[in-house]
Amino acid sequence: MYSIRRKLSIIILVCSILATILTALFVNFTINNKFNEYMLNNQEKRNQRIVQYFQEIYKRDKQWTKESGMEMEHEAFMSNYCLTLLDANKKLIWTMDPNDIKEKEHLKAIDNANEGVYNTTNFPINYNGSVVGYIGIGQYSSVLLSADDINFKLSINKGIGASIILTLIIVIVVSLYFSKQFSVPIREVSDISVKLSKGDYNSRTNVDTDILELNNLKSSINTLGDRLNQQDILRRRLISDISHEIRTPLNVLQNNLEAMIDGIFPVNTEQLTALNDEVIRFGKLLNNLNVLKRFESEGIVLDEEKLQLNELITSVCDDFLIVSKEKNIELTYNTKPNESYVILGDKYKLRQVFVNILSNAVKFTNEGGSIWVNLAKKKNEIIVSIRDNGMGISKEDLPFIFERLYRGDKSRNKIEGSGIGLTIVKNILTLHSASIDVESEVNKGSKFTIRFKSLK
Ligand code: ADP
Repeated sequence: MYSIRRKLSIIILVCSILATILTALFVNFTINNKFNEYMLNNQEKRNQRIVQYFQEIYKRDKQWTKESGMEMEHEAFMSNYCLTLLDANKKLIWTMDPNDIKEKEHLKAIDNANEGVYNTTNFPINYNGSVVGYIGIGQYSSVLLSADDINFKLSINKGIGASIILTLIIVIVVSLYFSKQFSVPIREVSDISVKLSKGDYNSRTNVDTDILELNNLKSSINTLGDRLNQQDILRRRLISDISHEIRTPLNVLQNNLEAMIDGIFPVNTEQLTALNDEVIRFGKLLNNLNVLKRFESEGIVLDEEKLQLNELITSVCDDFLIVSKEKNIELTYNTKPNESYVILGDKYKLRQVFVNILSNAVKFTNEGGSIWVNLAKKKNEIIVSIRDNGMGISKEDLPFIFERLYRGDKSRNKIEGSGIGLTIVKNILTLHSASIDVESEVNKGSKFTIRFKSLK
């Protein structure tokens, strides 16, 4: 196994080495080609110049002698080629000895295949339209290079070599720097995930990164930590709540029954009714747990149809008019009558949503309070808000109210409830791709806002 940093560095390095070598080879090949072309061109010009020179000599002397053009010998020797002068019948007039130039150390061939093989080319010398002789130019390679030429080529190759080394050094430094930018946040997030998996739900990362995906990964792992932490708190609270809920009716039953057995309480209808109420309460709790179990194990299946939300909410509000009146609570429903509020949804499940929220509003609002239901449309959204000026929810309880069996602070124990109403609400709405938000302040009231996607 490699660390991500090592793997990234190796990948960047291998790619860069390949890229630099290929570029260097290409540059070297192109420069060499162009250089050879240039040198061949020069050689061509030299040959023309030599032929012209001998033409001039013939023009001047009208014949060949052993001295014709001998002045060229020095230049030829210095430039590593040999001259041979032949007459029109290719009879030798004079020639240089190829062995004189053979041993010269700086003699190098461009074309290695021809290096060291002596080759002569005869060029005709024309005068007045007829060939009057030949000048042979012989050399030990197809193209001759001077010491300067060779130095020039060497310095180019050295430059390419140096640039390869410099590029590789830069690539190593840059790859180490950039791979660190990837590896540090990934390693940090992976460490946190290991800690979370070991049950350390308070581990969080605040590693700094400007890479979008890594930043998202970091936020996700932190959110996961928050969620796990919340779930853990909830699980502990749930166990204590359930045991408390079960213990209370059992204690009441046990104490009363013992008092009756000891003859302290009389065994009469009133006492037995009180005991029966506790048994009923106990039964209700078990029922609620059962509902929750069914709800979670079987899930909810929606029976969707096109729904006029206005009609549904009007009917639910109507059902609540009597209950709210009994508690002297004013229930107001507010909407634009001519607007269409069509959504795709399950009528019965959505009715349950509004019933649960409204019954909470009635339950947690004191006598003389008010409840406002509002239905509105904004762009593609249909927004339902249910607001009351009741007891409100404390900041500590607010994040948990949609969780299973969660009930507000202990004082609420006076008010009957099961702690599953809002869990069901949240699940039904999620299946409808709708959202629910809550704002609340203790003793001022609560506002539940539901957003549906409107059907066009
Ligand atoms: P419950 O059966 O206890 O009402 P819910 O799941 O319906 O269970 O609600 C969970 C908790 O949310 C309640 O116990 C209560 O503390 C709080 N809550 C819900 N609605 C309101 C409201 N309108 N006003 C104040 N508190 C509320």
